[in-house]
Amino acid sequence: MQTILTAARLVVPDDVIENPVVTIEDGVIAKITSRAGTELPPGRHLDFAGSTLIPALFDVHMHGGMDHDVMEATPEAITAIGHFLARNGVGSYLATTMTAPTDAILKSLDGLARFIGSRDHGARPLGIHIEGPFLSPHKRGCHPENLLQTPTVALFDSMWQASQGNIRLMTIAPELPNAPEVIAHATSLGVRCSIGHSNAVEAEAKAGVRAGAFSATHTFNAMRTFDHKASGILGEVLSNDNLFAELICDGFHVDPAAVNIWWRCKGPDRAILITDAMSAAGMPDGNYKLGELVVSVKGGKAEIDEHTLAGSTLTLNRGVKNFAEFTGAPIEQAARLASRNPARMAGFDTETGSLAVGRAADIAVINGKNDIVETLLAGERVGAK
Ligand SMILES: [Zn+2]
Repeated sequence: MQTILTAARLVVPDDVIENPVVTIEDGVIAKITSRAGTELPPGRHLDFAGSTLIPALFDVHMHGGMDHDVMEATPEAITAIGHFLARNGVGSYLATTMTAPTDAILKSLDGLARFIGSRDHGARPLGIHIEGPFLSPHKRGCHPENLLQTPTVALFDSMWQASQGNIRLMTIAPELPNAPEVIAHATSLGVRCSIGHSNAVEAEAKAGVRAGAFSATHTFNAMRTFDHKASGILGEVLSNDNLFAELICDGFHVDPAAVNIWWRCKGPDRAILITDAMSAAGMPDGNYKLGELVVSVKGGKAEIDEHTLAGSTLTLNRGVKNFAEFTGAPIEQAARLASRNPARMAGFDTETGSLAVGRAADIAVINGKNDIVETLLAGERVGAK
């Protein structure tokens, strides 16, 4: 049976449709029309009067939530995280690992591979993002220094094999020895490389991009500070129109003026909102695990000491809302930075990330305050609050 959705507005790739009628067949969008002058087709009718339908969000940098880390890679962890994400409007994510002993990373990748693409656990993990171990010791953030490693094709290949080819994104500091070679190798396998956790000068960042780097990891955070006479990695990230760039829009990691600078530089086709959420997301203040670390959360701020932020407790819908508030961008534009753009960057845009005929019916319903009302994944209601 087909499902028919009606609502006040619908955000499509380059437009907003008033009074939309969306026909869903077998979990896929079969037709989009406007209600004016048309009879509603037969089927199961769901009316979201007064609400806006946006693409379900896609978080390409997400470590965990609900007191679980994706590195646990158990059905219990993936289910708790997946349903938490779905309640917050997220339909897809890249399960993001962090720096850990090599055997622990390989075990997690092997475990995560079983869940990739599955719709049985709420939001769908579409691939894996490996954040570490190829990071700079100078910009490691909360990644343990003694576990960072020099990039090698051999170590990348062992991770690739453990993941059964499900690594879709890799954060790497381009100035490390062999980094360009490893970037080129990973890129040839379809992995998107994202420069970050990096102390690179501009020439080193450019070498990473020439080797194939495609995006930048949590812009501004764990990056060499911008200097107008030696602009470093940020000069490249902010001025290269071909590079996508992530940003954590929780108001703690990047202040609103810097969010505006990033937005003006990267624009509507290259800016990507992420959460970098860790296990404390969705939980009260307290102590939580991030990989092998203990992180203390106070007032929603996750830190390993007074100065080092350790992931976030942000939800992606909140990041979208913050971005709209900080920049004045309309919500449909803000939503694209957390749906269409990450899907394009990660190579899933023919399947998800926008509301169009032939795409998965992964839809978030938002109210007039831009809060999530509920989420439909493959046309089924999974995120009702
Ligand atoms: Zn990081």
